[in-house]
Amino acid sequence: MPFYNEKAYELGSNRSIIREIFEYGKKRKSEIGADNVYDFSLGNPSVSPPEKVVSTLKTLLSREDQTGLHGYTSAVGDLATRKAVAEYTNKSCGAGLDPELIYMTCGAAASLTISLKAVLKSGEECVVFAPFFTEYKVFVENANANLVVSLPEDKTLQIDIKDFESRITEKTRAVIVNSPNNPSGVVYREDKIIALCDILRKKSKEYGSVIYLITDEPYRELVYGDVKVPYLTKYYDDVIVCYSYSKALSLPGERIGYIAVSPKTKDAKEVYDAICGAGRSLGYVCAPSLFQKLIATCADAKVDVSVYRKNRDILYDNLVAMGYDCVRPDGAFYLFVKAFEKDAVAFCEKAKKYELLLVPCDNFGVNGYVRIAYCVDEKTIINSLSAFRRLREEYLK
Ligand code: PLP
Repeated sequence: MPFYNEKAYELGSNRSIIREIFEYGKKRKSEIGADNVYDFSLGNPSVSPPEKVVSTLKTLLSREDQTGLHGYTSAVGDLATRKAVAEYTNKSCGAGLDPELIYMTCGAAASLTISLKAVLKSGEECVVFAPFFTEYKVFVENANANLVVSLPEDKTLQIDIKDFESRITEKTRAVIVNSPNNPSGVVYREDKIIALCDILRKKSKEYGSVIYLITDEPYRELVYGDVKVPYLTKYYDDVIVCYSYSKALSLPGERIGYIAVSPKTKDAKEVYDAICGAGRSLGYVCAPSLFQKLIATCADAKVDVSVYRKNRDILYDNLVAMGYDCVRPDGAFYLFVKAFEKDAVAFCEKAKKYELLLVPCDNFGVNGYVRIAYCVDEKTIINSLSAFRRLREEYLK
């Protein structure tokens, strides 16, 4: 028997399928040239950070006193940053956030890990909506709780309210909503959110408990046209917002985001203290100082979403015309496509023959789909179309 932790070993040695494809893509690009590989594997933003972010960073870095800039902030983050976050979000979304209930983090992954650890007890359940971001399983199990998957409506991939209700038990302590969704790009409609919140109120009353709604928001700002993403604190009281600037400001490598406990949450101050305790126990204190200072000025900055929208339009319109079956995404930068055979892994292997790198989504909670991350150059999208056509033709033969 090994002396190290076997569960940790298992997680570390089984690389995520997305990372594996990404690594394959790097190798393939070195063999045949980057322009000849259509790598749609990774959700790495292809749009540069907003000009305001770049210029603020330059100003910060040219300050004479560099010590304070890089020093520890308070464990929960600078008050100036938390005030800026609350002010912007309250103004733009009517969120009702309180700076005293905000905890700055290293991105959404940290926000989720901390929040789940703060509210879940051993053996409790956390419901997620398929298709879902695969790391949820890792994060929930890290809190010694169990992941429960609610299946979506067939054609729309919206929340299936009946299915959701059937998943709630006395053990349910949290529900994660991710909209716009990774991997489908679907934005959950307001009527679905209202119905979901009604069920949560009914069930918590029935069980005499609190069921926390955890809203995972890295793609909130990436929506197309006049699509609105309902802000959940307006529909339900016990809400924990997990936000990240990774995609909103194209800063995924800088690791900056936050957790906000809605002031309407039952025992909000205590829940916030539990967030602080979970952050402490996981070693997630004092989010990157430089980027906290940046957010204090740039909470309202925006990336140019029109670039992603154009990619979405070219890809979606062309693939549908070729006979691919996919839901038109209203946000994020992913297209969720039905494979032409039951086995999505086999489909992705065939796609590789045409240098198309797609992600099979069997462990995203629904079988037979693949994800295309279209956060790439427009040129890559246009050049990839003939490969998608040939892949389609192979299945028509
Ligand atoms: N949640 C979802 C749905 C994501 O897609 C991602 C990253 O792609 C994360 C959380 C983690 O985000 P971050 O990079 O800010 O930790």
